[in-house]
Amino acid sequence: MPSSAYPIQLITGGSLTIKPDEKTNDLIAPTVMARILRDSPIGWGKERYISTLEKMAESFKSSASEIDEDREDRSDFYKRKEANARFLISMLKPILDSIPEKDGKGDVSLKDFCISVLGLVSQYARVSSELDGEAKLAIKERLEEIRGMTTKTLPFNDAIDQIDLVMRGIRIGHSGPAPGCLHISSYLNGGRSGREHTYVVGCDAQTFPGMIIQNPILLDEELQAIDRNLVISSEILKEKLYRIASLLSSLRGYLTLSFSSFDILENRESFPSSIILQVHRLISGNLNASYTDLMNVLKLPSGYIPPGMTLDISDFWITSFIGEHGLKQPDPSVFACYPGLSQGKKAREARETDRVTEYDGKLLEPAAELDPRENADLVMSASMLEKIATCPYAYFLNYILKVRPLEEVTLEEDTWLDAMQRGSLLHDLFNRFMREITGKGEKPSLKKHLPLIESTLEIVIKEYRDKIPPPSEAIFEQEKKILIKAAQVFLKTEEIRCKTCTPLFFEFPFGYKDAEAEFRDPVRIPLGAGKSFLFAGRIDRIDRIAEHEYAVLDYKTGSAYAYKDHLCFNKGKALQHALYAIAAETILKKIEKSGKGVVKESGYLFPTEKETGRLVIPDRDDKKLVELLNALFDIVRTGVFIPSDKEDSCKFCDYTELCVESVTENVERKFEQEKNREIDPFRKIKTYE
Ligand code: SF4
Repeated sequence: MPSSAYPIQLITGGSLTIKPDEKTNDLIAPTVMARILRDSPIGWGKERYISTLEKMAESFKSSASEIDEDREDRSDFYKRKEANARFLISMLKPILDSIPEKDGKGDVSLKDFCISVLGLVSQYARVSSELDGEAKLAIKERLEEIRGMTTKTLPFNDAIDQIDLVMRGIRIGHSGPAPGCLHISSYLNGGRSGREHTYVVGCDAQTFPGMIIQNPILLDEELQAIDRNLVISSEILKEKLYRIASLLSSLRGYLTLSFSSFDILENRESFPSSIILQVHRLISGNLNASYTDLMNVLKLPSGYIPPGMTLDISDFWITSFIGEHGLKQPDPSVFACYPGLSQGKKAREARETDRVTEYDGKLLEPAAELDPRENADLVMSASMLEKIATCPYAYFLNYILKVRPLEEVTLEEDTWLDAMQRGSLLHDLFNRFMREITGKGEKPSLKKHLPLIESTLEIVIKEYRDKIPPPSEAIFEQEKKILIKAAQVFLKTEEIRCKTCTPLFFEFPFGYKDAEAEFRDPVRIPLGAGKSFLFAGRIDRIDRIAEHEYAVLDYKTGSAYAYKDHLCFNKGKALQHALYAIAAETILKKIEKSGKGVVKESGYLFPTEKETGRLVIPDRDDKKLVELLNALFDIVRTGVFIPSDKEDSCKFCDYTELCVESVTENVERKFEQEKNREIDPFRKIKTYE
């Protein structure tokens, strides 16, 4: 979990009171604070918080000042964001500053750690009831106690565990035994009243005998130094088992041992403690009985709520709706009261039919302006077109409805860069390196340019590291090795390739704002019958292979699986090479002036260790491409944005949370129905290999 996730949990968990101004008593919504943290690329390490948040505040400030006067509302919006970011800095800074620094061994002072937690609890712990107040006081007292008594230093995570252990031991709102009350006591004090029935709860393996952690105030070593007869942590387990065995053997009457068989927080099964197994062995007389034998004799687990009884209104509705076999037939009045539920039910039922309905992405009134052949303002990119071919529904969500997943910086504990980040780092490297050597009139040479590509890589890596912190040095070094290898493979491949060609252009944009003035307009791609559409892109490489003859290349840093040599379009999922060939010809005609420039090769270069610098150049077939593009635009024109029927398409999709699990299954069924003619354009796409 990235370190920014902890404060997000703390803030959104409702445990803190966040007031930017004590006098006004105004509160800042936790979701606002969490959003700022979520959007920030803090990643790992407490030292990155303040500098990253300051950069964010500055960028909000400059966005506010860049907005025209007539967009005052937007300017206010950014000013508010800046104020919130600055408040977050002022709130987090003292907390972060108070966290003790690790010493050379990675240890921290437990006393300083207590002071840090004490400050956080004193200032921000939310008190909304008498019990909260009591809990806050107890926590503070316990922390004060440890602070006053300990001088220990210990590893950072152990310090957290120690404080956690102490906090878990705090009890509030309890009283002594009273008539009419259920009295619960520890097994250490129980069993002395001679009652006929004794119930021992909490006998799951996790709880009893449980984990053994050293006493935070007096560690084992210190205990031993005081008196060798004092109980140290390793003996506590034995002691616990001995104490419960003594208790159980002293009881008379009936004994019930129970354990929780399901952990609702972790959503997983839990298992009985060894103490229950021992009891079973004694009762059954089978001293070798195993856990399996024990589980076989136990009856079905029972809950604290008898079947049919409901505790509150939510329970009532859940039991009314859900039966043993899933959703029951609910009362129609429920749907009348909750139109959202009713709509959801309708959508689900429609998706489960054989027909293609509006719940499968079919527009009831498709608009001509969605069709790039009809709309002169609509500029398409290769990835947009490939998206229609992969999953029309994903295209509909992304480019028409503009539904975007929550932008969140997600960092993994065992990875520095994800595939996309690694790809863009390598693209940066290849472009910088090629620009530099071709600027000097040189061609790539492994012997001559290895130090240059490696030093360029160092610079690019540093820039990425500043933006995206690695979770650890070991992981960083491991990924760096992969990048160095990719740089070497690239250089080797280019040395061979450039013997027969001259690289000319690198990362050449057209149809975008950052393109050179002459190429800022999108390229018009003809589609026959007087039709055409506008196209924009960014070509990684244009090489001259002979007079007026060129090659267009796109660097791919992922797997070459979807780019098999014999596949020209891969069912419309690989269109970029074919489109860039046409676009590059238009561009080259402008550059060459002679108008003779033709693109003879257009394809993909895989300069990674795994793909060993493989080059995939599919055959060029403009006629087929035009047919395929028209079929794609027919999907858009008819407004049938059906989801993909192939699970593979969903693997790396941003909308998996939005599409239910059975989406591809449902669509497959609809595809099998010949009568569903409206999906013919999508069926047709699949014939273009
Ligand atoms: S999850 Fe699958 S079906 Fe849903 S939009 Fe993505 S690719 Fe399409």
